[in-house]
Amino acid sequence: MSATPPSALSLLNSVFGLTAYRGAQEEIVRHLTEGGNCLVLMPTGGGKSLCYQLPSLLREGCGIVVSPLIALMRDQVAGLAEAGVNAAVLNSTLSPQEAFEVERRLIAGDLDLLYVAPERLLMPRCLSLLEQARIALFAIDEAHCVSQWGHDFRPEYIGLSVLAERFPDVPRIALTATADELTRKEIAERLSLTDAPCFVASFDRPNIRYEIVDKQNALNQLKSFIAERHPGEAGIVYCLSRAKVEDVAGSLRDAGIAALPYHAGLDAATRARHQDRFINEDGIVIVATIAFGMGIDKPDVRFVAHLDLPKSIEAYYQETGRAGRDGKPSSAWMAYGLSDIVQQRRMIDESTGSDAFKRVSIGKLDALVGLAETAHCRRQRLLAYFGEELHEGGCGNCDNCLSPPKVTDGKVVAQKLLSCVYRTGQRFGAMHLIDVLVGRLTEKVTQFGHDKLSVFGVGRELNEKQWRAALRQLVAMGHLRADSEAFGALKLTESSRGVLKGETEVWLREQAAGTRNRAIRGNSRRGQLAAQPNGGGKGDPALHAALKAWRSEIARQRGVPAYVVLHDSTIDGIAATRPETLSALRGIAGIGDKKLEHYGEELIALVRSTGA
Ligand code: ADP
Ligand code: ZN
Repeated sequence: MSATPPSALSLLNSVFGLTAYRGAQEEIVRHLTEGGNCLVLMPTGGGKSLCYQLPSLLREGCGIVVSPLIALMRDQVAGLAEAGVNAAVLNSTLSPQEAFEVERRLIAGDLDLLYVAPERLLMPRCLSLLEQARIALFAIDEAHCVSQWGHDFRPEYIGLSVLAERFPDVPRIALTATADELTRKEIAERLSLTDAPCFVASFDRPNIRYEIVDKQNALNQLKSFIAERHPGEAGIVYCLSRAKVEDVAGSLRDAGIAALPYHAGLDAATRARHQDRFINEDGIVIVATIAFGMGIDKPDVRFVAHLDLPKSIEAYYQETGRAGRDGKPSSAWMAYGLSDIVQQRRMIDESTGSDAFKRVSIGKLDALVGLAETAHCRRQRLLAYFGEELHEGGCGNCDNCLSPPKVTDGKVVAQKLLSCVYRTGQRFGAMHLIDVLVGRLTEKVTQFGHDKLSVFGVGRELNEKQWRAALRQLVAMGHLRADSEAFGALKLTESSRGVLKGETEVWLREQAAGTRNRAIRGNSRRGQLAAQPNGGGKGDPALHAALKAWRSEIARQRGVPAYVVLHDSTIDGIAATRPETLSALRGIAGIGDKKLEHYGEELIALVRSTGA
């Protein structure tokens, strides 16, 4: 860097190609640059890296970044190198010679940023090396790994308490996207940050559109969702079992979608290959069990689809959060049905956990089912679960806000259903109950004499799909219970009585006609707001395609992921504004001095040669 210290804002622009801070970034950068410690809680994609990268450039010496995710370190360093920052990694993937060279550069004051795996950092040799070097700051990324009660405990993180003792004068910043109070306290205690300020960003991900649809033929629904909303774009599809992963990946491929499976049953080489292709190529859809995703930092994942219900709202938030890290409009889409509730309940019942554990698990599942069944804003409900309040009136970027479901008085419908359950002896599942209600003379109905019951055919005013939806909502409300031990037989609950006696009000959400994908395809006000400032849309399609092809080629030549060369939002910006001069190009977010120097001429030539 130059002799006179540059200002933060000028570095933000010249190195990162950005014009303004986002949220609390400015305050955090100032605090850290002035030598203060802090804890930062920010959702995925919130812009955590800038919070320590910029102060590392501003302060004298090298910023040491502790991260448990080796693949992620590599990509971050590649991205920084593209922007002209002297960055390196120190982890087990280096040869002794390579490691030695990195150490030499550190001591020589040749590095702005060094990414280190925690187990490496804690080696006596590494610590004494750091004592000889000039250190700008310590950034502890994924700081929740220090929490023993969290979902991702890493024992080596405990040892990081040594940083405060051995380097009391070097500022420390701990960052995480895990927000709960307990984890936060534990991080502060273990990393000696109890007196440091804690910067908490909103956990809202405004660019993600939440949609939860009624499961009919899930695979066809998924295919049309991808075809109509995200053709040719990168996405993750989550399924519960390995067999289903293979099945779905195969069907998507048959439908012409570039889909790859990922699950623990595949050998390590295949898994690594599929993961690499997903990260490096454009528009790959990965179909996976939840084994996939941890440590995947791909910014341009345009959708996350769930074909099975996650375990809890936390899991749903984390998994859907892998979409749209780059801030561009993205979708979190889930198809869900009654069988999902039954399946998850069975998994809890059959687990070996204690009764207390099972109770907590059931509570978490219920909260998620509540989110799936709500007729109100999904985002409000989601954030409320994390203790955050969203302004009134809904978000304008979830299915319920965009096409509000009709809510009707469901008292009579509920009574018919509950009496049908009662009269048939609380021994049957959804399908048979619906047959009885709509008066269908199946073999089973005749066999059990259910055509003789007073409830036979009393529900002809609704079709099967509507009954199914009503049934699921009654389960979600707790007026019916799916008994996992009796193969999903539906049983009455304590609260059923109130409904049957007409004392409890029941409001049911009407099922939207199956065209929801299309109905909410249009960009909402909020969806547009969430888009990048460079014109919002993708601009000239021919130029857009040419830019992407150019980027793939450069990425291939250099052996880095496409997004390390240019982010999608930068490609969109170029396609939308068609810059024909270097200074016009420099005005686009993501184009800093180095990118301009390396790619400027080529990009401008591409703009000029590709028809408007
Ligand atoms: P996190 O580590 O919190 O998941 P990142 O640091 O990877 O998030 O940033 C997510 C995305 O946001 C990146 O594409 C980054 O370039 C972008 N970003 C970060 N800060 C800003 C900003 N001030 N203005 C515009 N884009 C930003
Ligand atoms: Zn909403």
